[in-house]
Amino acid sequence: MKIIIIGGGPSGLICALNAKNNSNEITILEKEQEVGKKLLVTGSGKCNYYNDNMSIDKYHSYNESKLKELINDKDLVKVKDFYSNLGIIPYIKNGYYYPITKDSKTIRNTLLNECINKGINIITNYKVDNISKKNNKYIINNDISCDILVISTGSNSYYKESNSYDLLRKLNLKVEKPLPSLVQLETKKYNFLSKWQGIRSEVKVSLFENNQHLKSELGEIQLTKYGISGICVFNISGLVSKGLDKGKEEVVKIDFVPSMSEEELYNFLSKEDIKVQLEKIINIKLIPIILDNTNNIKDIINRLKYFSLEIEKTKSFSNSQVTIGGLSLEELTNQFECIKYNNLYVIGELVDIDGDCGGYNLTFAAHSGIKAGKSIYDKN
Ligand SMILES: Cc1cc2nc3c(=O)[nH]c(=O)nc-3n(C[C@H](O)[C@H](O)[C@H](O)COP(=O)(O)OP(=O)(O)OC[C@H]3O[C@@H](n4cnc5c(N)ncnc54)[C@H](O)[C@@H]3O)c2cc1C
Repeated sequence: MKIIIIGGGPSGLICALNAKNNSNEITILEKEQEVGKKLLVTGSGKCNYYNDNMSIDKYHSYNESKLKELINDKDLVKVKDFYSNLGIIPYIKNGYYYPITKDSKTIRNTLLNECINKGINIITNYKVDNISKKNNKYIINNDISCDILVISTGSNSYYKESNSYDLLRKLNLKVEKPLPSLVQLETKKYNFLSKWQGIRSEVKVSLFENNQHLKSELGEIQLTKYGISGICVFNISGLVSKGLDKGKEEVVKIDFVPSMSEEELYNFLSKEDIKVQLEKIINIKLIPIILDNTNNIKDIINRLKYFSLEIEKTKSFSNSQVTIGGLSLEELTNQFECIKYNNLYVIGELVDIDGDCGGYNLTFAAHSGIKAGKSIYDKN
């Protein structure tokens, strides 16, 4: 059997490794001059490939009920064993897994070398623009044919341009609207933005949509000249993307002192001069913003605990780490094979499943690659 995998990212490479047996021939077609280019930039070049706090709750889709059929905690945990069987030794920080070298090349090169060792063909600088089906064969660019096809071309995130969704639409497969996620948020043009630019602080952010609380996250925020960034912001950005797309009002409230209750703050600030006390609990550059036109302690506590920002938009796809949407889960079996097309698999970020920050997206890319790969292996 001849198998073609379009896209040499983590999901495609891992699928190839799991699908290879003695009686099949596998070729990966990659448009770039090397495989795993995006993988190399993950985790700030360190590649956060897994997380000990693995749970289906970290994943999102337009189709939440089908999501629970496609992935479960037990299967996701197997991704850790897959990497450890390849000889990857983890460096674990707060449950986040990186290769011990803290270099994403370790993961990329290990996957690539394994593919080469197993006799998997890799053709680079080959962009797929067209897929058709004739006599039970898939034909790529009117050039190459195969019995089994895997599409693992990734999403809109990071790339300047992507034809991933067009490939699916041309096959009459349903695509849920792609939107950027794990991305910075732009607020209204407040005067204080230029003053707080550069501050990093441990906070709690809470997202309100049309005045209704949706989600809260603790973590480090980065205050910028356009609005807010940081992992806690990234983890609410997907909901913001979806809400803004539907014309809803998105407001983020920042709690600058999450470790203190309002009562504790009141007692603390009343002890001495407020400015002197504020210097002990928040970044000095924030003080004039918090004290702006008021010396009323209740107002000050309100600003410290519920600093309110109206969100105008998210940053673009090229800034985002992941894309919401993609191939509708309705189109897929639990092995990531298309219901409409025998022997056509779609895996990785191209599928309408996205995860939080913390290794969850690479875990899903690997999980879907393993699932589809094993299913292909069994077909030979
Ligand atoms: C800056 C950044 C940091 C990130 N950090 C992390 C992290 O630390 N942990 C984590 O879990 N996730 C992280 N992610 C997300 C993670 O990189 C992706 O979820 C993951 O790479 C998806 O894997 P994939 O194989 O589905 O797609 P991709 O990695 O995008 O691979 C798709 C491949 O297909 C190729 N291709 C596309 N179109 C075609 C075509 N028409 N013909 C031929 N080839 C094609 C592409 O060139 C690419 O090599 C990060 C993302 C970014 C942008």
